[in-house]
Amino acid sequence: MTAFDTLWPTILDVGRHAGTGGYRRFAWSDADLTLREWFAGCAEQRGMDVEVDRNGNMWAWWMPKGWTGDPRDAFVTGSHLDSVPDGGAFDGPLGVVSAFAAIDILRERGVVPAIPVAVAAFSDEEGARFGVACVGSQLSTGALTADRARGLRDADGITLAEALVRAGRDPEHLGADPRLAERVGVFVELHVEQGRALDLVHAPVAVASSIWPHGRWEFTFGGEANHAGSTRLADRRDPMLAFASSVHSARTEAAARDAVATFGKVIVSPNGANAIPSRIRAWLDARAADEATLTALVDAITAEARRHAGADSITLDVLTESLTPIVEFPEEPRARLTRALSHLGDIPVLPTAAGHDAGILSALVPTAMLFVRNPTGVSHSPQEHAEMSDCNQGAVALADVMADWVTA
Ligand SMILES: [Zn+2]
Repeated sequence: MTAFDTLWPTILDVGRHAGTGGYRRFAWSDADLTLREWFAGCAEQRGMDVEVDRNGNMWAWWMPKGWTGDPRDAFVTGSHLDSVPDGGAFDGPLGVVSAFAAIDILRERGVVPAIPVAVAAFSDEEGARFGVACVGSQLSTGALTADRARGLRDADGITLAEALVRAGRDPEHLGADPRLAERVGVFVELHVEQGRALDLVHAPVAVASSIWPHGRWEFTFGGEANHAGSTRLADRRDPMLAFASSVHSARTEAAARDAVATFGKVIVSPNGANAIPSRIRAWLDARAADEATLTALVDAITAEARRHAGADSITLDVLTESLTPIVEFPEEPRARLTRALSHLGDIPVLPTAAGHDAGILSALVPTAMLFVRNPTGVSHSPQEHAEMSDCNQGAVALADVMADWVTA
């Protein structure tokens, strides 16, 4: 049994829904609290000091012998423990389990760190319960204000502040963490790949180059409600047609730029089976390799949508709901990771189109990511999968990187 094999099964039952087989590990739910106890237990078994910071992010510290005072310039690795509704087992926990396994591997090798080492689990990465992603890391870097975070509500109307009180925490403590930049020398997040790039090149592990810029735009197509039976086709102002053509245009424009564009959420008014709609509200999620391409893509989709709308006398409003710039992982840590893994041969260097805590933290500290192969590419689903042999290789790769960093 490897270090990873031993540890991985110990969380597989937590928050798993018997009916779907998917995970429901929402922030500050019972499943989340159980995982937090599990994390503290893993740290205690390894003689690591557990710290829960003001935003509920968990840290397990392995300090060099004789180190006194606060940690500085630490090698930090980890990920998150929460999930999307009916998520897979790997997204998040793979990085935390691999982090503890990497420490076990280092200790078996007799590696003694010269600098502090920490395993971190960031709170509420998925945003499944309160609607905002990466709450723990965004609070710590100051990207999300404490006031806004406290007021976030879940589907039952419970605020994050109330959920924190129920979990025995004081929501007044939320806020930017002034120690973060000083304490973290580098944050390396290992994550299951959420695509098939590694499978296509037959490699178990990759290093991340960047996180694609992405955003969300609300399209409102306005027409005229009327009777689905008695209104002549020539007399209709049906916004569904312009919307449907726009969905098709989004696909064509994305394909032309090696990007992705998705209309995944639609609200139809009045939403009657026998009524021509008066209004369609639809949300476009678009992502591309760089910001210029993303802008060109959204401009092209908007122009096409206007053309379709104009042809049918439909009004169109387009509103930018959110826009996240590109995260380019810095050259220095990435080069060091690649060097530490040179025994694996030419390690693939891949961008990702999914958001991560490492992307948020990159605003303040050096960050890097490792991806572990996902043979189907499926993620955010009970079908998400990674082979145990690849997970083991991922944990060993993380240990190699850690050993290189903490002994240099
Ligand atoms: Zn994740």
